[in-house]
Amino acid sequence: MADILPTLLFAEHDDASLNPVTARALTAALALGAPVHVLVAGENAQAAAQAAARLDGVAEVLLADGPAFAHRLAEPVAALGVALAPAYGALIAPSTAVGKSVMPRIAALIDVMQVSDVIAVVAPDTFDRPIYAGNAIQRVRATDATRVLTIRTAAFAAAGEGNAAPLRTLDLAEPSAHSHFVGEDIAASARPELTAARIIVSGGRALGSAEKFHEIVEPLADALGAAVGASRAAVDAGYAPNDWQVGQTGKVVAPDLYVALGISGAIQHLAGMKDSKVIVAINKDEDAPIFQVADYGLVGDLFEIVPELKAEIAKAK
Ligand code: FAD
Repeated sequence: MADILPTLLFAEHDDASLNPVTARALTAALALGAPVHVLVAGENAQAAAQAAARLDGVAEVLLADGPAFAHRLAEPVAALGVALAPAYGALIAPSTAVGKSVMPRIAALIDVMQVSDVIAVVAPDTFDRPIYAGNAIQRVRATDATRVLTIRTAAFAAAGEGNAAPLRTLDLAEPSAHSHFVGEDIAASARPELTAARIIVSGGRALGSAEKFHEIVEPLADALGAAVGASRAAVDAGYAPNDWQVGQTGKVVAPDLYVALGISGAIQHLAGMKDSKVIVAINKDEDAPIFQVADYGLVGDLFEIVPELKAEIAKAK
């Protein structure tokens, strides 16, 4: 397929700054071989647009700035994507809550097939994506004239910085809003964000209570400067908040170090963390499946091991 038309990458940002997943999705976008334009849709999003212009390989940044794009509601951003689509050969977004909400709408509106959760670009029209909770990889060929993709960013390295791409402000009529922003509850945390963290410490059902989760998992995470994750069993039992869940129905992560405390290693959990570079598991059952993916395994009681580990880390500091 001749890639004459450029690729449009939807930036993930909060107006003030660019989320690091954008630089990873850019690597996937560049692999299509066409020039890459980055769309920054937001309100007062100049700073995010400037950050996008610094990313290596970006040919142009398009800034759609206005109240209609505040909070990146799916309907107006999708309408913008549809308006821009004829000029592009591919529309790409990271597989985040925003990307997963916007891109299927665009694909439906322009009547093409979306390829979700791309983990490798084999050719400009051919992509690998996980199926069956990551137990099989499907190779998909997109035959539509416009490819619509979401990218599993953990599978791609971040593009570098040092560019000074031109910035074009879009002069589009603002799309009518079918939805309204009501409010948001943002959990304030001094810890790194789960999907961007270099280290993650996760706790499972074995913790037994929210108090124990707080007493055992969180201090170890803080000693390591890590984000906190949890298994679905721990979330369902109320030991940890929903947005800490790692796995098939939670977040997909690939940190440098993933520490699993009292997590059995069900396939649905592994689907969210098995691409981590180094996996450490502490479990009292030596046959727990988590040990099949762990680089370092400690068989024992986490209530004894974790405080000892924390004390050793404190000594080493
Ligand atoms: P358990 O499986 O109960 O394991 C607890 C482990 O702790 C055991 O291995 C035990 O040996 C160990 N242990 C107990 N006491 C101690 C101790 N004192 N010291 C050390 N080790 C101890 N799960 C996810 O995590 N994420 C998902 O996104 C997800 N999505 C799902 C989607 C679907 C459609 C379905 C059907 C399931 C999903 N699940 C998901 C659930 C998944 O199947 C498992 O039930 C869940 O991951 C189990 O959580 P766990 O490992 O904490 O608990």
